[in-house]
Amino acid sequence: MKIVGLTGGIGSGKSTVTRLFGEHGVHWVDADDVAREVVEPGTPALERISEHFGKNILTSEGALDRAQLRGIVFEKPEERAWLERLLHPIIREELIRQLNPENYQLPYVLLVSPLLLETDQHELVDRIIVIDVPEETQIGRTMARDNNSREQVERIIAAQMSREDRLARADEVIDNDRPLDEVTRQVRELHERLLVDFG
Ligand code: ATP
Repeated sequence: MKIVGLTGGIGSGKSTVTRLFGEHGVHWVDADDVAREVVEPGTPALERISEHFGKNILTSEGALDRAQLRGIVFEKPEERAWLERLLHPIIREELIRQLNPENYQLPYVLLVSPLLLETDQHELVDRIIVIDVPEETQIGRTMARDNNSREQVERIIAAQMSREDRLARADEVIDNDRPLDEVTRQVRELHERLLVDFG
């Protein structure tokens, strides 16, 4: 049972391409979902966070106030470091748990993660797929999807790994600056190759 990492910058098409793999029966674990699950009410991680930042970091329902937390770690790098030291190992353990081979039939499963290459999550995977689009496409699609300003999207892109560095780490590249039917074909061909390689 192999784990294939799938990554790309904001608005590159991770969710879209994941769905296309899903049409072939491929299962996936989404690191963004796991990052949310590990701080749900009642989790040890949320308990530690509310001890550290105070109860005000919780909403009236007892959930994590993400907007507030984002504001704090944006202002204070040492708080960001504290949070990452707490969460990254917990997220990694939960990823490993969910990637358990017993849960899957096909010879590989996808780990979809925007931070695959920036964290030690890449150590969990046997192969790395990068979804590649030019920055202008990333900006246009993200602005259209999220109603963000160009400046907001450009700031996020600037904080992420560069396109060049990401491509240098790729074993496989999906060119998503293409019409969807063409991307669908790329995904089918890659899936078939992965079945042969890992089957
Ligand atoms: P994020 O990192 O922000 O969660 P993502 O990498 O998951 O984003 P998607 O949400 O899949 O990216 O794609 C971003 C937007 O671009 C979506 O609105 C999606 O429908 C659109 N999109 C993705 N691929 C294509 C394509 N090949 N042609 C046209 N539009 C596309």
